[in-house]
Amino acid sequence: MFKKILIANRGEIACRVIKTCRKMGIATVAVYSDADQSAMHVEMADEAVHIGESPASKSYLVIERIVSACKQTGAEAVHPGYGFLSENKEFQKALAKEKIVFIGPDAPAIEAMGDKIASKKLAEKAGVSIVPGYLGVIKDVAEAKKIAKQIGYPVMLKASAGGGGKGMRIARSESEIQEGFERSRSEAKSSFGDDRMFIEKYIEQPRHIEIQVIADRHGNTLYLHERECSIQRRHQKIIEEAPSPFLNPKTRKAMGKQAVKLAKAVNYVSAGTVEFIVDRKRKFYFLEMNTRLQVEHPVTELITGLDLVELMIRIAAGEKLPVKQRGIRINGWALESRIYAEDPYRNFLPSTGRLRRYIPPTENANIRVDTGVQEGGEISLFYDPMIAKLCSWGKDRAAAIAYMRAALDAYYIRGVSHNIPFLASVLGKKRFEEGELSTDFIADEYPDGFSNKDISAEDPAILVAVAGVAHHATVSRAVTISGQIPGHGRKVPDHWVVIVTTDAGSQEFPIWLSQEKTVDSAGIVSATVRVSAGSSPKAVRKTLQLNGAWHLAAPLFIGDANGKAVTVQIEKRPVGYRLSHAGTRMDVCIYTPREAELVRRMPRKLPPDLSKYLLSPMPGLLVSLAVKEGQVVKTGETLAVVEAMKMENVLRAERDGTIKKILERAGASLAVDQIILEFA
Ligand code: ADP
Repeated sequence: MFKKILIANRGEIACRVIKTCRKMGIATVAVYSDADQSAMHVEMADEAVHIGESPASKSYLVIERIVSACKQTGAEAVHPGYGFLSENKEFQKALAKEKIVFIGPDAPAIEAMGDKIASKKLAEKAGVSIVPGYLGVIKDVAEAKKIAKQIGYPVMLKASAGGGGKGMRIARSESEIQEGFERSRSEAKSSFGDDRMFIEKYIEQPRHIEIQVIADRHGNTLYLHERECSIQRRHQKIIEEAPSPFLNPKTRKAMGKQAVKLAKAVNYVSAGTVEFIVDRKRKFYFLEMNTRLQVEHPVTELITGLDLVELMIRIAAGEKLPVKQRGIRINGWALESRIYAEDPYRNFLPSTGRLRRYIPPTENANIRVDTGVQEGGEISLFYDPMIAKLCSWGKDRAAAIAYMRAALDAYYIRGVSHNIPFLASVLGKKRFEEGELSTDFIADEYPDGFSNKDISAEDPAILVAVAGVAHHATVSRAVTISGQIPGHGRKVPDHWVVIVTTDAGSQEFPIWLSQEKTVDSAGIVSATVRVSAGSSPKAVRKTLQLNGAWHLAAPLFIGDANGKAVTVQIEKRPVGYRLSHAGTRMDVCIYTPREAELVRRMPRKLPPDLSKYLLSPMPGLLVSLAVKEGQVVKTGETLAVVEAMKMENVLRAERDGTIKKILERAGASLAVDQIILEFA
């Protein structure tokens, strides 16, 4: 076994690999860029080597620096994680030259699977079912139209060198090919430096189901069952699970056998994933093979009890797989949610910044958190915006969902925007609960995007009661420390009016608290709260018994309401509180009835009219301005391009107008909400 391993990666995956090395008694070496000087993976590793500047192209992607870090520290093997150099054959060659072991498949297998056209041809020869289509390079629009007609619409235009959903487009008619072909091709050229395009049948309402395979150097190749990754946003996975709610044992076995056949056809060793697309009738078709550890590998580990990183290391050290196919069982159900630094309320724009507060849920037999950041750390614009992967395990799917929902409610992140409200909303959907998944799920369920208007998902009375108890305890404490003798000073009222505000508007809920003490000095909550929805005729009066734990500075209330488990995030704001729960975010102000009466008479302050300005939706670089002062623009016209997190975001005119003033020039660094230009 190796004595020392270098991890050529960063973030959660570097931390995850280090954990397994520790367990196996192997020393670890981290590598880091300028931006990652105090990153978690650097802190966790036994040694760390600085390898360059912040952009990955000047550090994590520089082969020579990593090879010399190995030589400098005496690392005998390298785990590449995913991304960066994990599927780079030059990297492998450079390591081999120095007799350093690459923990992963051999270069020829990576190469054979690196190209979509070539890998599909290979798969077809190996007896794997592939998506009907044309496996040749398409010259031009005319040829694309001809072939699409033969295949039958709808079709998928794909870049052979593609990855990450880039250079891929659906075409439902000849005119969509006309429009999409050249654009996909130029996207492929600029993203991969390779513009070879092909066409295959578009599978309607597809599911993405993939098979984990693992192979040693002694001729053993196994499949570790499937993961379903159909919950995707723009062809990018966000929630994955294992097993799939759609597969029966027969299909599972058939897919597993084909995956093994393909792996054997390329002499595959180490862990790999064979991706399939599955139609409504459970017919499955090979998509591609990923020749590395996948982001979503933890769900497989949770149901099989195997540590994939450990197996990869043992295989690289020449050991035999310790299990047989018959021994690979499916125990319970596992889910994974990818937590990203992005703002779901602003069309998922990437967010950067410092993690002011960062409290992941506690790990236990049902919850696993793979994270690479800690409180005070930074989400920088140089790397992938993933903050962590949150996994849950339960004895069945319903249990795994329940654990996941509670853990999402408890995940406390402040300082950067994150997609937890959106994940919580998806997991709360009935269709998700029913397992009716497809890659169209998000487009179908959120036709107008995600917003904060939908508070009907969860009973608002519970949140109102929690807010009421928190406020009552806060006021009681203020009365006590003001030196007033109980019974002689101001009496803490037990009747309040809670005004709830979401993007959908405001609503008043009068409440009555029955106990004198709602929260004791140890932070134990016990209170009966009567909630009335006042002015709304649909209002139901509800009496809720709240039990749980919360103290005056706690960010979380964890307890139950009438016996139903509930976790609510509470944040004290300059006026009132902000509560988050199950994908709903609401701001509440709590008043005595008299105060509420006066508040109602206060003139409403209208929000400033910002429609006259073009604001930068995120911190980033103003790449270009497409307009001049005095120019008349039409709805949809491009105004500016802002680059952030390696992505170019085109800002367009939301309505017709004239440009009055330009405040920023190309090349400027923009803060979020910074004014770029003003309309007349
Ligand atoms: P990439 O390598 O860019 O990730 P893939 O070929 O793996 O591209 O496809 C990514 C996703 O696109 C799949 O998970 C699926 O949702 C969708 N997709 C790809 N090919 C098809 C197809 N022929 N029909 C329907 N959906 C497809």
